[in-house]
Amino acid sequence: MTPDGQNANLITPLDRAKGSILGLVVADALGSTVEFTSPVEIKQKYGPAGQTEMRGGGFLNWAVGDYTDDSQMMLCLLESLVATNREAVTGLDVEDLGRRFVGWYDSRPPDIGITVSQALSRLKSGVPAADSGDANPQSQANGAVMRCAPVAVLWHQPSRRAELVRDSLLSAAPTHRSPIAAGSCVVANVMIAGLINGQPFETALAQAKQAAGPEWQRVLDEWEKAGRPHRGNSGWALSTVLTALHCILTTSTFEEAVVKAVNGGDDADTVGAVTGEIAGAFYGYAAIPDRWLKVLKDREKFLDLTTTLFAVGEK
Ligand SMILES: [Mg+2]
Repeated sequence: MTPDGQNANLITPLDRAKGSILGLVVADALGSTVEFTSPVEIKQKYGPAGQTEMRGGGFLNWAVGDYTDDSQMMLCLLESLVATNREAVTGLDVEDLGRRFVGWYDSRPPDIGITVSQALSRLKSGVPAADSGDANPQSQANGAVMRCAPVAVLWHQPSRRAELVRDSLLSAAPTHRSPIAAGSCVVANVMIAGLINGQPFETALAQAKQAAGPEWQRVLDEWEKAGRPHRGNSGWALSTVLTALHCILTTSTFEEAVVKAVNGGDDADTVGAVTGEIAGAFYGYAAIPDRWLKVLKDREKFLDLTTTLFAVGEK
């Protein structure tokens, strides 16, 4: 079953933008409980339905409603875009974003990834934010696609496609510059922007493929030919995006998509976050279960920032 046909125009673009941002955060928090565990271990611990509730815990013993590095870095991007586009809407100021990432790095977050940590150390030592990410084509971790959605909230209008692609890549640059890792942000954000505008899921996916570079076009072609399979929950950008798409395409609600994503275990919070940012744009904010939202840390802050940034993008 695919989610197509359910993209009813009753959901407003602002509700879809809120769905994308809060969908990312809520799925990150849901996944944090089962990060680095296997699907078998998850079922043993939580029963046949798996991990379906906001309960904290996990290997870093999170409090209920806490979110992890995925949403923390996304918040840096969200706040940066809001702060630097108040006067004139010029898009992402990557040096401002870099300063916010370094501030977060200096707070010594417990769950910072290796690729991100190395890049932010280079940034802190004086490398410009546009150049501090690893450009090695083999550096393909998922640490940029997990946080990219705010760029799609800003540049959601169809006339802003060039800015959307430019700033999606630039939002990755402080930590990830390889075609696959940075390009994953183009794939996710072109989808999110299309879905915010009420596009059918398949149309948004086709446009994302068109906007992506040749590396991602090849990847998506092969995945289509193979029948759009689940690609596991490892920390790679490729498998993360493809598994997120699989989880959305094989379920019919936001909750089912995100639960399927995090119950793959391993890098559960990040596969959850990427599934949540795309599924949230498709199903809208109202589709996110209340029982998850009511305990989510900083829910109102994320909602207010999203509303402000969306309004900037309407100018
Ligand atoms: Mg995380």
